[in-house]
Amino acid sequence: MATRVGIALGTNLGNRLTHLRDARDMLRALVDPDSLYLQAPIYQSEPVDCREGSPDFYNTVLEIDYIGKPYELLTKTQGVEFHLGRESVYERNAPRIIDVDILYFGSDVIKDEILTIPHQRLIHRRFVLQPLNDIRPNLILPGDDVSISEHLRHLETDEPPLNLVQGTW
Ligand code: ADP
Ligand code: MG
Repeated sequence: MATRVGIALGTNLGNRLTHLRDARDMLRALVDPDSLYLQAPIYQSEPVDCREGSPDFYNTVLEIDYIGKPYELLTKTQGVEFHLGRESVYERNAPRIIDVDILYFGSDVIKDEILTIPHQRLIHRRFVLQPLNDIRPNLILPGDDVSISEHLRHLETDEPPLNLVQGTW
């Protein structure tokens, strides 16, 4: 049985558009090509909690139909990160070639030392909520009672507004 899975992509190093496309293509290769696939626009955002002079991030969100377990998917998303050249150990919040985070995994709720699902920062970050709202505004996360569009509308953050980079990519 396939599960609807949200995945966030972020990059602020090198050719950011190429990194997003490469990660997207590798993730799509994991799923049935005929299954429903959703892809948000790419937004540019100023780094949050990063050292001064860090390049801006490109962020987006995908939703795929995944057959398998969350931990298997994490192994695959980490494979995408390593394939694209992300170093395994680096300073927290340092510039990065690619970050692939699992936002939600159907109705699963997981909280252990390996995985937190739904992702713990999802509802607090505009750079995740805004692209997710573009593809799944009515989604209510497991354990929640408010939709993504409601979270975005009521978001209290000092993040500056995001700039749209491109809608199709
Ligand atoms: P971050 O994404 O928080 O900036 P990393 O990408 O380095 O930092 O992630 C560090 C660890 O976060 C990973 O080794 C992984 O085990 C863990 N993790 C917990 N929940 C998730 C999730 N939902 N998606 C991806 N990684 C997760
Ligand atoms: Mg990550």
